[in-house]
Amino acid sequence: MGYWVKVIPPSSRARIHDGECVHCRNGQGQENQDKGGGPTRWEGPFATVAQARTFMASLHYRDTDVCRHCNP
Ligand SMILES: [Zn+2]
Repeated sequence: MGYWVKVIPPSSRARIHDGECVHCRNGQGQENQDKGGGPTRWEGPFATVAQARTFMASLHYRDTDVCRHCNP
């Protein structure tokens, strides 16, 4: 249990997910998702949404938000 940040460097985008979210699955990503050697990665787990937000802010990305599916 915890919160994860999906980090997508090519689009300077990051999203916070609940670990239980089907899009996150505790950092494993969606089932059958391509897990190739790309730069996209999961950071976590964070104990609280606030900690995840602090990490996300440190990225200085222009597009940061929470997942609209799990809405942590
Ligand atoms: Zn989610």
